[in-house]
Amino acid sequence: CGIIGYVGHQQAAPILLDGLARMEYRGYDSAGVAVRSETKGLQVYKSKGRLQVLSDMIHGGADVEGTLGIGHTRWATHGEPNDINAHPHVSEDGRIAMVHNGIIENYMEIKQQLLRHGVTFKSETDTEVAAQLLEFHYNECHNMLEAVGRVLRRIEGSYAFGIICADYPNALIAARKDSPLIIGCGENENFIASDVTAVISHTRDVIYMEDGEIAVLTAEGVNLFNDEMDPIDKPHSHIDWDV
Ligand code: GLU
Repeated sequence: CGIIGYVGHQQAAPILLDGLARMEYRGYDSAGVAVRSETKGLQVYKSKGRLQVLSDMIHGGADVEGTLGIGHTRWATHGEPNDINAHPHVSEDGRIAMVHNGIIENYMEIKQQLLRHGVTFKSETDTEVAAQLLEFHYNECHNMLEAVGRVLRRIEGSYAFGIICADYPNALIAARKDSPLIIGCGENENFIASDVTAVISHTRDVIYMEDGEIAVLTAEGVNLFNDEMDPIDKPHSHIDWDV
């Protein structure tokens, strides 16, 4: 299973597919991408099965437009491997797309609460619960970073998250706890990935995210926050070994 994310000036979809391919060795049962563009909005493609199925569906990425996106290979824990349970998961109003590796332990209790608020769910996954909770909080506070903070305080379990929102066309949000996630820092482009092998063909300059950290990536730079939402500074690491 794996997560990849891109923000920059190149077309995101081929980069996402390539990153996912480099993480295939980690194992997975489904794959998907979400890419955002000015003209087409959020485009989400996902499928059970090999990455090749997804790649063929979008002609290697040529059918998808945009320079901001997230991708995922899933190893199902909650909900059988099928097209609907594949990631990314999109919130009810279609504005937020999320990929997740890990397990939200208290998803059932949160789901019950959201159901009482009239939220409808498409999938059986724990991840969709996090995506819908994020929309719920975003509708309350109208600030994506604040909403992410509220979600992270509420959920229990393990996660690496990649999040994009149609209202933030230039930003990729990442967070992790007990599931790997790194940031790749490029020239006018930045990446997230579960594994450095997914970004090393683009950059050898990486930041290892630690538990509780949240990152906001734009093409120009990376802002990191601790679990109290205080900005933090972290040294970059240079990968000088061969993959
Ligand atoms: N728990 C999530 C699911 O079953 C994520 C699984 C994963 O790490 O790929 O969809």
